Amino acid sequence: MTLLLDNIRLTHPHLFQAFSLLPDAEQHLQRIMELDRYWERLKQPLRQVIMPGDTLPKDALISGEYDLIYAGGTLSLLHAAVMAGKYGRKVLIFDRQTPAKSTRDWNISRNELMNLSAIGLFTEREVDSTIGRRYKNGWVEFYQPDGKQKRLVMENVLDCAVDADRLLNLAKERILGAPGNALLAETSFVRCYQFDDHIIVQVEDRQGNPFFYKSKVLVDVMGILSPIAMQLNEGIPQTHVCPTVGTIASGFENAVFDIGEILASIGPADTSAEKGRQLIWEGFPAEGRNYITYLFFYDEADSPNDKSLLSLFESYFITLPDYKKPGKDFQIHRPVYGIIPAYCHDGFNRSREIADSHIILFGDAASLGSPLTFCGFGSMVRNLHHLTADLDRALTENNLAKKHLEKISAYEPNVASMANLMKYMCFNKATDEPNFVNDLMNEVMIVLDDLPQRYRQAMFRDEMKIEELAVVMLRLAWRYPKVLAATWEKLGIQGSLSFFKNLAGWAFSALR
Ligand SMILES: Cc1cc2nc3c(=O)[nH]c(=O)nc-3n(C[C@H](O)[C@H](O)[C@H](O)COP(=O)(O)OP(=O)(O)OC[C@H]3O[C@@H](n4cnc5c(N)ncnc54)[C@H](O)[C@@H]3O)c2cc1C
Repeated sequence: MTLLLDNIRLTHPHLFQAFSLLPDAEQHLQRIMELDRYWERLKQPLRQVIMPGDTLPKDALISGEYDLIYAGGTLSLLHAAVMAGKYGRKVLIFDRQTPAKSTRDWNISRNELMNLSAIGLFTEREVDSTIGRRYKNGWVEFYQPDGKQKRLVMENVLDCAVDADRLLNLAKERILGAPGNALLAETSFVRCYQFDDHIIVQVEDRQGNPFFYKSKVLVDVMGILSPIAMQLNEGIPQTHVCPTVGTIASGFENAVFDIGEILASIGPADTSAEKGRQLIWEGFPAEGRNYITYLFFYDEADSPNDKSLLSLFESYFITLPDYKKPGKDFQIHRPVYGIIPAYCHDGFNRSREIADSHIILFGDAASLGSPLTFCGFGSMVRNLHHLTADLDRALTENNLAKKHLEKISAYEPNVASMANLMKYMCFNKATDEPNFVNDLMNEVMIVLDDLPQRYRQAMFRDEMKIEELAVVMLRLAWRYPKVLAATWEKLGIQGSLSFFKNLAGWAFSALR
């Protein structure tokens, strides 16, 4: 058998060298390559996975019946644990890998994380036990060639490193603690069949054997690869993406262990890529001597840039010493990676499809989080209360048609509006100076630094109010008029109109 590692020896030598030291390199490479198939899928003909009930094979044998079936085993665990524990719903969760084993780690502030105890899912002590490290504060900084970049320091923002797997395993215990629930590993979603009063979900095991399960609702939490999201959104499930790679490692020479580096760019845009990309780092201390570093960039989903995680990992290992210097006892404990999705809505309200009859999408499959600051985890924690209570009510009242289920969403008008700002961070070498993103963001940092702490906290916690954003934007335009020309180049008429509609929807939602 050809090892995946051998296949990348020549194409990605730095990645090869780093992964050669990992005991589970093959599994990680398999998952990385699986995620990288996303790029091909965007170009392929649409696969139909939501089928009418009358096409269900006549010999389909139903292996089990549940209130809720969750396809995907990451954020689903948090939702399912509440549905099972608090609302007594019978749930099945399946994942084509291992449920409750994520390829990421998360940051959040403690107050926000405590939503999980407020909702009754865990005790405060249990929630605290998932925090690997808490730090004093965090900062954001964008490269300036003269070294005069503004370092924007903030408190109580993304200042807890959460051990994702520990948190998910706590949720898993809750689910399996209630009778009748089940978790299936190595089980892939194939398709589903819609009936008037239920849905049948077809899955297959690693050997390709088919199984059928019946449910009131199929909850699609398959992340960015969701074929359901792809079908419902006619092949455009995301408008923008943020490919992200990194490691949890120890042995850096210059890591600071009580401060988080929330966003840090250390150079101008990389113009060797087709359209170019502004690479950004993040650095967070974690448990013990571990330190987490990520490298990522924002881009349009259909840009010609090479956005593969494999290539980004190669860039990561080449440039890591410029950001944090690995010492002589440097050791990688685990790679982390994923494609963070984003969707810019063209309308006053949500314009992305996130439900169908007996089907609802949450997490990255729904793509309603902000890729700028918080992403899917923060969005789920913030919205968990109503995402569970509303779905329970829908089940009780048997309101499971699309028009009812699509009202149960993590859509937040402020987050949708703020997502437009990501377009300014998508570098384009045809129109932008190499330091364009850094210059613009440095000005934003100066503006925020002049304003009270709550502005920066609100911006980086997805809690901004429309009047606060207006203050920031007006001050920015005053200080840095180039942003107006950039708006024209980055958003154009269509994009500016969409942004305006999003802002109007946000303003209107505040009045309701
Ligand atoms: C490196 C990194 C760091 C991050 N840090 C943060 C952070 O600090 N804060 C934050 O809010 N967000 C963060 N995010 C984003 C966050 O991780 C995601 O929003 C979150 O993981 C989404 O969870 P999900 O369950 O929707 O999807 P995923 O995590 O993608 O999980 C989807 C699951 O579905 C399974 N699956 C896919 N297809 C199938 C199929 N056909 N059949 C069965 N199973 C399938 C997959 O195996 C996977 O386990 C980070 C992301 C990355 C990549």
